[in-house]
Amino acid sequence: MRISEVKMTRVTLPIEAPLRHSYAVHRAFTRTVLEVRTDEGLVGLSETAAPPEAIEPFVNVLLGEDPFNQERIRMKVSQRGYYSRQWLIASAFEIACWDIIGKAFGVPLYKLLGGKMRDRVPVAAYLFYRYPNEEGRGGVTTPEEMVAHCLDLVGKYGFRTIKLKGGVFAPEHDIAVIAALREALGKDYLLRLDPNAVWTAETAIRAGLKLEAYDLEYYEDPTWGLAGMASVRKRVRIPLATNMCVIDFDHFAPAVELGAVDIILSDPWYWGGLHNTKILAGMCKTFGLGMGLHSGIELGIGLAAMLHVAATIPNLLHAIDAHYHHLKDDIIVGGKLQYQDGAMAPPEGPGLGVELDRAKLEEYTENFRRAQAKAGRDYRPDPQRPTWFAMYPGW
Ligand code: MG
Repeated sequence: MRISEVKMTRVTLPIEAPLRHSYAVHRAFTRTVLEVRTDEGLVGLSETAAPPEAIEPFVNVLLGEDPFNQERIRMKVSQRGYYSRQWLIASAFEIACWDIIGKAFGVPLYKLLGGKMRDRVPVAAYLFYRYPNEEGRGGVTTPEEMVAHCLDLVGKYGFRTIKLKGGVFAPEHDIAVIAALREALGKDYLLRLDPNAVWTAETAIRAGLKLEAYDLEYYEDPTWGLAGMASVRKRVRIPLATNMCVIDFDHFAPAVELGAVDIILSDPWYWGGLHNTKILAGMCKTFGLGMGLHSGIELGIGLAAMLHVAATIPNLLHAIDAHYHHLKDDIIVGGKLQYQDGAMAPPEGPGLGVELDRAKLEEYTENFRRAQAKAGRDYRPDPQRPTWFAMYPGW
């Protein structure tokens, strides 16, 4: 079997309300969808944050290649430059190849990745401060608004783990929101805070000492870098998690040596694919570190890939992150994947188990073009604050 064609489509999907974080504002979710066709007529799906123009120079790596040759493909993409391993591209190719292989054998992908260790994968509610949407609804700023937003999500989807994306306002505001959430939820929910590394180590220590009162599951990237995290970890009695300072295999050994983190949040795209995520899981187990999965605004194709790999990792015991509940729609047949009691099952069809809805793909490609035409080159991280830019550290 040989790969004969690679098609890329950029799509922009609407979300309930603009999501604020320390770098910018998500106004919608934009992704590149890949369709990788073989000479036997099988089509593997994938998605990535990388735009088509960044992927295009690597397409000839795939053409003529056997989709089973994943190590060759990964090597050919990742070693094509001194300074960048192009993991966002290598992982997108790998996921499409896995989808082809699953379809070739007629089995769901989790069966090829080691088999299920759990039928459903717990997913965290991902709370953001939000601007109101175009209808003037959905804004969230105060502790009271965040509690109402959280209880609404818990009621709709059954979440048992709640994550707050902090780092938009001063640390005292995030601490007040965490206190209000803990009071409203009681002690039976897991609660995590992610200031996105925008605090100095000393701010993270001061805030962390106050946060110890709220029994956090973990404190995610309160400050930047391995040294800063190690310094916080010495002083604060909350497990530290990261998706920002340990994001490649090179970072693992120094992180262990410095004692910088307790939990690594893998992102199958940053780490080079599902196979690499399994390798990382083995390393975490060997060194006594916990494991979770980071989310990077995936649509259903990407989320399906995450669910398949997460279901197979024995030591992935933290609920995975997903922005998915913010999406208003998806581009897969049957509409959005469904939550059940705060968890999701990997789809049961062959491969990823999802199929493209052509009409939706077209609709959201057009949406991408419109958004591009409107924004042009005038990118502003936060259009509501035209002169604002991210400051690191911010507090
Ligand atoms: Mg994070």
